[in-house]
Amino acid sequence: MNREMSSLERVCAALDLEEPDRVPLWIIGCPYMARLAGIPYDEFCRSPEKIANANRLFMERYGADISYNWPDTWFTHEGWGMRMIWSPNSPPVPAEPLIKAPEDYEKLGVLDPRRDGRMPIILKSIEILSRDVGGHKAISTMQFSPLSFLAQIRGLVKSMQDLILYPDLVHAGLRTIAETVVEFFREAVRAGATVLLYHNAREDYSLLTKKQVEEFGWRYDSMVLKEVRRLGIPMVLHMCGPEPMIDFVISEYPKGGFKGIQFWDRGSNISLREAKEKFGDKICLVAGFDNVRTISFGSPSDVEREVEEAIAAAGDGGGLIVSSGCEIPPSAPEGNVKAVARAVERCGRYPLRRSHEI
Ligand SMILES: [Zn+2]
Repeated sequence: MNREMSSLERVCAALDLEEPDRVPLWIIGCPYMARLAGIPYDEFCRSPEKIANANRLFMERYGADISYNWPDTWFTHEGWGMRMIWSPNSPPVPAEPLIKAPEDYEKLGVLDPRRDGRMPIILKSIEILSRDVGGHKAISTMQFSPLSFLAQIRGLVKSMQDLILYPDLVHAGLRTIAETVVEFFREAVRAGATVLLYHNAREDYSLLTKKQVEEFGWRYDSMVLKEVRRLGIPMVLHMCGPEPMIDFVISEYPKGGFKGIQFWDRGSNISLREAKEKFGDKICLVAGFDNVRTISFGSPSDVEREVEEAIAAAGDGGGLIVSSGCEIPPSAPEGNVKAVARAVERCGRYPLRRSHEI
């Protein structure tokens, strides 16, 4: 039996493709956390203390190793003046697109995370959580890739048209967004973040071609990667679509770019076993149970079985963090979330036992 590690050591070992003491657990889903803590969602998104406390409660209750200081999509966008509609029980939604005409891309300025939008709230929540549990737990936050921002501030259809009709204006906007993302990550690390998550919703074969991704995605992702590497903090790529461009990411990104990849192994066109065979020696796989179906509609034993299968498929030698492909919904039964933690504890201790021994 390996010696007991801290959560942070455990996570770093897995990301370095080494065997930790047990497979780390990362469950993402702030609406679930807020519900668990009994906090209305509009209050949660605006309170650093509530974000930090709900994360701490959640990690304690389920033995999760990594926090998720990321309440909603829009805390950056508001810095550019994007207007939101708030309600007590769900994340805010945009009142209208920020970019109304292609010329507006050029009007965006690089934001200051210490001042603009709700970024200061997220940074403060990281600071509080880091002070409270940062010596033991890993602390994470997330930003979208510049290309993902584009659809959010312009609308999906119009942003796709703009790639073709107004590429220069789009590039101007993407550059500004990339610089803002870097600034946010820099401040997040200063506040105490120890893992960064990079949400790339667009690099999926169901949405874009490789050529479009090379021109409008990769260029800015590389810029962010280069700057984040200087911070010395691991960055994990989040790609939760049905046809994630994992092969593209592995072949095109600089070696050592992303330390891990979080993907929807239960719903996409690549299984965890296949990913382990193809990419397991290059990148840590962050996946294992289905956030869309099983966590909501399965039984606790269905959930346990998925986690057990995931560890059997991809746990060998390290390089696995048990997680879902995307956020768990707030309505997920607590018994199912507990089942994830139970299965990791039961099957995830190294050296791994073969399934017939469990
Ligand atoms: Zn996602």
